[in-house]
Amino acid sequence: MKDFVLQHVRLTSGESTAIAVKNGIIVHIGADLPPDIADPRIDGKGAYVSSGWIDLHVHADADLNPYGDEIDEVGVLQGTTTVVDAGSCGADRIGGLLERSRSAKTNVLALLNISHIGLTRTDELSSLEWLDENRLMDAAERYAEFVVGLKARISSSVVKEQGLAPLGLARRFANRLNLPLMVHIGSGPPAINDILPHLRGGDIITHAFNGKANGLFDIQGKPIPALSEALDRGVLLDVGHGTASFSFKVAERALAFGITPDTISTDMYRGNRRNGPVISMAHTLDKFLQLGYSLEETIERVTSRPAHWLGKPELGRLQVGDLANLTVFCIHSRQVELTDSEGEIRMGTRHIKPEGVAVNGQYIAI
Ligand SMILES: [Zn+2]
Repeated sequence: MKDFVLQHVRLTSGESTAIAVKNGIIVHIGADLPPDIADPRIDGKGAYVSSGWIDLHVHADADLNPYGDEIDEVGVLQGTTTVVDAGSCGADRIGGLLERSRSAKTNVLALLNISHIGLTRTDELSSLEWLDENRLMDAAERYAEFVVGLKARISSSVVKEQGLAPLGLARRFANRLNLPLMVHIGSGPPAINDILPHLRGGDIITHAFNGKANGLFDIQGKPIPALSEALDRGVLLDVGHGTASFSFKVAERALAFGITPDTISTDMYRGNRRNGPVISMAHTLDKFLQLGYSLEETIERVTSRPAHWLGKPELGRLQVGDLANLTVFCIHSRQVELTDSEGEIRMGTRHIKPEGVAVNGQYIAI
């Protein structure tokens, strides 16, 4: 259905509106619909509408274990219209992922793992033989429409004896390609103070609010000096919740020092979707509402802000003339038990529930 009118919906500001889509393009936004507007009409019954959600960190190569899942399971079924696969694939498998993305409903973009083997093993940076510059350059250029950046997982179980060498190579590859780098942080070594100086403006740190030692904040939640310097250079912070990488306490203390994520992503794959603590994109957003972020502050971190980072602002705004990528969602007032990666439980009072999406103009009820 590429012609439809979404009626009785609200923007995240609370303002009532309607959105008309013709041939997949948004032709009208506003409560007062012109009389000649087409059917069918979808009654939003007071639900919210935003630009389609963007999840900047998922694992969407279904053949991989443990870090894999079906594209639409981490995409449209979550209310997410665009997913960014965060380094599941290196040069070996990136073409296959692109091929499979063509039969998925969800828009897919990818961060190319600097290791050509990608997540076929979980220590993909432990041998420098896997960081083959020519293969990486070829893949990034060949799939330039699909590859939006590079991914480097810089934590001890991934790099093992290689220390900072993979990060040095990541920096060099990203410079040559003029692409941003997403760096995953976790347990050291390498020490966080040795990692951060390698990041440049436009690069993004995922798992930024993890509860491990070797994090970005001191025990009070004050950013460590190397983080303050990185933020001054324009380095961005991504949530990347995942199984082991989001702590309420860390996020809360950081907020007290005025540090918030630029983007909220799930790091979703089968295991943490089915068994928690991620469960869903909406559940991840509920956690930010519980932390005190407003609805607008929460939703902009899965719409305009990731779209800006991707250099694709049209994916994160509501504007006449754009291809319709929309998420329709309700907020239920009820108790919701929220568990972070440290096993800490908070009770939320609001639960977001996606009701439908439009992906490239096509409306899909969830
Ligand atoms: Zn991940």
